[in-house]
Amino acid sequence: MINLLDSLYPKSCSICKKKGDYLCSRCEKLFKRNLPECYICRKLSPNYKTHYECREERGNRSFHHVFVAWEYNSLSSILLKKYKYNYVQSISETLVEVFIESIKRSTFDRQLEGTILTNVPLTKSRLRERGFNQTTEIARKVANAFNLPFVEDLVKRKESYGHQALRDKDERKEIRENTFTLRNDFSLVGYSSITILDDVITTGATLEAMSLALRENIDRDIEINSLCLFRGKPYYLEIP
Ligand SMILES: [Zn+2]
Ligand SMILES: [Zn+2]
Repeated sequence: MINLLDSLYPKSCSICKKKGDYLCSRCEKLFKRNLPECYICRKLSPNYKTHYECREERGNRSFHHVFVAWEYNSLSSILLKKYKYNYVQSISETLVEVFIESIKRSTFDRQLEGTILTNVPLTKSRLRERGFNQTTEIARKVANAFNLPFVEDLVKRKESYGHQALRDKDERKEIRENTFTLRNDFSLVGYSSITILDDVITTGATLEAMSLALRENIDRDIEINSLCLFRGKPYYLEIP
């Protein structure tokens, strides 16, 4: 089937459209590998494990492991915007393909055994506006590749309400932090961990708010991990 398609449509780079491969050598450089680190202190850590002391610091919000595939930079931000706001099927496929490859190469796939995969949700209005949720699309394909169960929006995002600018700072913070709820029509019995897929992680605050919502609603100790595509360099490595 693939060969037939190749002869009908000659191969070209899914990102820049240059004839040749699905991902040309120039665009391949968009994907600069990140070394395994603890997502909190950002020091190197084998298998992307969060240090015990770092997790203590964040309490119920903490993640056990946060896998990040590549460095987020000006090139990857252009790519991601193209994908996010103007769904391009070929970019999506290439992105997921190289992401799956990068998980396999890191051996983090072993960490995914017994897990259930979910996405970072959008609010209903945002989803309507955009037409699709990029993390749902990626998570679904990743789950498929590793033969994992996928549940869409396991944690739901509540609509933010009112004029946030009119509220005081503490209140704003609280609203921002409590915007997630757990879906109550789904049982997590039998799963040893939950893995949330995100495209870009910055401080990790969004993921941590989701993790908190999960732990507050699950009455057993469950491992919570994340798979992320991109993250910027640690501040101490950034060239001024
Ligand atoms: Zn290219
Ligand atoms: Zn740490």
